[in-house]
Amino acid sequence: MKSKKRILTGDTPTGKLHLGHYVGSVENRLALQNSGEYDCYFLIANKHAFTTRADRPDEIRQSVLDIATDWLAVGIDPNKSTMLIQSEVPAIDELTFFFSMIIPFNRVMRNPTLAQEIKDKELGDKYPFGFPLYAVGQCADILAFRPEMVPVGEDQLPHLELSREVARRFDQLYCGVDPHVQDKDYIARGGLFPVIQPLLGRVKRLVGIGPPGPDGNLLKMSKSLNNAIFLSDDADTVQKKVMTMYTDPKRIRATDPGETDPEKNPLWAMHENFNPDQAWVKEQQEAYRQGKVGDVAIKKKLVEVLNALIDPIRTRRKHFEARPDEVMDALRTGTRRANEVAEETLGLAKKAMKQDYFPRKLSIP
Ligand code: ATP
Ligand code: MG
Repeated sequence: MKSKKRILTGDTPTGKLHLGHYVGSVENRLALQNSGEYDCYFLIANKHAFTTRADRPDEIRQSVLDIATDWLAVGIDPNKSTMLIQSEVPAIDELTFFFSMIIPFNRVMRNPTLAQEIKDKELGDKYPFGFPLYAVGQCADILAFRPEMVPVGEDQLPHLELSREVARRFDQLYCGVDPHVQDKDYIARGGLFPVIQPLLGRVKRLVGIGPPGPDGNLLKMSKSLNNAIFLSDDADTVQKKVMTMYTDPKRIRATDPGETDPEKNPLWAMHENFNPDQAWVKEQQEAYRQGKVGDVAIKKKLVEVLNALIDPIRTRRKHFEARPDEVMDALRTGTRRANEVAEETLGLAKKAMKQDYFPRKLSIP
């Protein structure tokens, strides 16, 4: 197991997994896990959930279980992959502190994903100190595992860019890597942290099923924006959500010409991304544009398509929902394994920083 290359990715426990996660990251995670070529680390970023809901610890705890249950339901196999709880891996916090010293505060605040989140989640200027800190924390989540690749959705790219900068800076400052070295050569030239590569999903940014945001663009499907179809939604809920979803507001009657741009009408974004019969989609888009088919027919088809995708996941989810101990065991075993790697990384980082005073051994019973 030790010799394989690693990948790391994760989810914040702010709710359950949705279709955006599926196409943005889960498909890649499954492919990498099942290829047998990688050691896969999947992290539940529970501390980061406190950035927006520090007043709701029960909810966060429940979401940790929900996310882990969703993972098992989609096919993450705890015998092949490592599922871990962030807050039980102290090396991540310790790296966060050191990393926060080598990256300018203004650089962190220039991260467009943070700015977008502040806007979308209406955080105003009331966000906690830990909100910008979480961006640095995410560098530590990733680099603690020194992974080769990080499978994510597009919104994560600015975060990954920060972790690439942290890796370069650390390696230059403490490992003597020449700043002119190419990213791919950092490790070969003595660096500790790899300048990681993102791996984007089949769909980089799935839009939500709600109306556009203040800037007129459709919002990203998000757990926190009330615009998601969850992988755990039952068939009736999927039906209700689809039948009432936002489409083309200018279209009053089925005979009105309709908008089929997936950037403007989520009904078509969903069909383009999930309907296996793309010839049907093209044909119906033409009819929709000409006012020859109503929303209801297209929505009904989408309900069918989505339920066919979600049904097997639902069945497996039921199995794990009834066995929360099994879910917790997968997290315990994984977190134990994750600590071995993260402790090793921290030890090496401290050594490079000349702050390796007393070796320690950490264990989870
Ligand atoms: P929150 O609203 O709390 O931020 P989220 O729905 O954005 O939740 P995250 O836990 O932040 O979910 O993201 C987990 C992973 O899923 C990330 O890699 C992210 O890029 C990806 N992802 C999330 N939403 C989408 C989406 N709509 N399309 C593609 N990828 C997505
Ligand atoms: Mg998010």
